Amino acid sequence: MQHAPRTIVIGAGFTGLCAALELARRGLPVTVLESEPDVGGLAGSFEVNGERLERFYHHWFTNDRHVGDLVEELGERDRIVYRPTRTGMYFANRIFRLSSPSDVLKFTPLSFADRVRLGLLALRARAVKDWRALEGETAEEWLIRLGGERVYQVVWQPLLEGKFGPYASQVSAVWFWNKLKLRGGSRGSNGAEMLAYYRGGFAALADRLAEEVTALGGDLRLSTPVRGLVVEDGSVRGVEIDDGVIDADAVIATPALPIVADLAAPHAPEEWVASLRRIEYLANICIVLELDRSLSDTYWLNVNDPGFPFVGVIEHTNFEPAATYGNRRIVYLSKYLPETAELFRMPDEQVLDYCIPHLQRMFPTFGREWVLGAHVWRARYSQPIVGRHYSRLIPSTATPIAGLFLSTMAQIYPEDRGTNYAIRDGRRIGITVAAAMQRLGQEILVPTR
Ligand SMILES: Cc1cc2nc3c(=O)[nH]c(=O)nc-3n(C[C@H](O)[C@H](O)[C@H](O)COP(=O)(O)OP(=O)(O)OC[C@H]3O[C@@H](n4cnc5c(N)ncnc54)[C@H](O)[C@@H]3O)c2cc1C
Repeated sequence: MQHAPRTIVIGAGFTGLCAALELARRGLPVTVLESEPDVGGLAGSFEVNGERLERFYHHWFTNDRHVGDLVEELGERDRIVYRPTRTGMYFANRIFRLSSPSDVLKFTPLSFADRVRLGLLALRARAVKDWRALEGETAEEWLIRLGGERVYQVVWQPLLEGKFGPYASQVSAVWFWNKLKLRGGSRGSNGAEMLAYYRGGFAALADRLAEEVTALGGDLRLSTPVRGLVVEDGSVRGVEIDDGVIDADAVIATPALPIVADLAAPHAPEEWVASLRRIEYLANICIVLELDRSLSDTYWLNVNDPGFPFVGVIEHTNFEPAATYGNRRIVYLSKYLPETAELFRMPDEQVLDYCIPHLQRMFPTFGREWVLGAHVWRARYSQPIVGRHYSRLIPSTATPIAGLFLSTMAQIYPEDRGTNYAIRDGRRIGITVAAAMQRLGQEILVPTR
């Protein structure tokens, strides 16, 4: 029987949902298969006091334009809120504010000359126009070149080590340049640091996307892991799920590359599968605390002290008001780490016991009785390790299996992974595959002479 060509999208994170949206908007059959019971992927949520909260802290920068464009199209513009935030750094048992140039000039752990170097470094970084010039350099080499050894040791090295652990010295200058550019550029009209959020949380936007896909005829199936690909004569013909096989003419894979490698391995050249496995990923653990009072007035606190087991203390309710969560103060303790790390494997009950004394050292008045609730979330594939010449490792969206396409967070470059780019790339791949499906549809449905 003749049929309009169907696309299967693996994963209902922002990439998968946006790819499906573009296909559904063009009237093309699309099925989204998600292994988890909810949409949103890494930006998914859980409930606190009846309100949804991200499992892993999330915000947008004011310059994340792909989010704005999408939300506008969905008619939800007024749900994006922009709020001032404060950034700080915990160093030598003190919290320093680091939100503005005047904060930098008051940062006493550095000599005055080094404070000026630090301020100039941010400006020089933002003046870099062509990231290719930085591809051969590590972040360490580049940051020392721009700001000197002392600035590197106090400010940047602990951040790099906190985020990338054993991989810190391999991280590319391009990755760091992007972080400086984006964060530094996220400001309001008065120059103050500003970040954006979605009323109801990122999960509400993911739900809105899912609703739109379904309203346009898309088929979304949750708790449906893809177990394998069906490939015939070098072309993808569908996917295997627990209940059997779903036929398709194209498959867009959005999970982390090692997961895609496992799915593709029985059908694709060994060398290509190995190339997918060359990109390594760090895991992340976030401990989310519901507190009866606030720890500080800082939203984002970088922990520049290797004696602490987390790299960031993010007090979410210094961004989204505590009233949203029944006046509970929400604090994330975040750590990126290899999946083999002890903390990543520790049972949930022990994780809290392990963290509390560290938090007490940082905030001496803090007591365990402040904790009304605690949650531990883990993500195995949370951050691709972006080393020198990363562009050479990135697989293309087209693959050796005809009809199989890749759009994953490891392919986002020179930018770093984030929902803004998941939206951009998801839409791009959706449009590309839609064009291919429309051509195929004409061949199948329109009799040729
Ligand atoms: C700690 C942390 C903090 C972050 N903070 C921010 C932030 O502040 N702002 C921001 O914009 N971004 C942030 N991000 C990044 C952001 O969450 C991701 O870049 C984005 O959500 C990636 O979307 P994605 O759809 O590409 O991938 P994912 O969200 O990983 O989606 C892939 C989906 O595929 C599913 N899947 C996997 N295997 C299968 C299978 N076999 N069958 C079916 N489904 C499968 C997964 O369950 C998942 O839902 C953060 C990430 C982390 C880890």
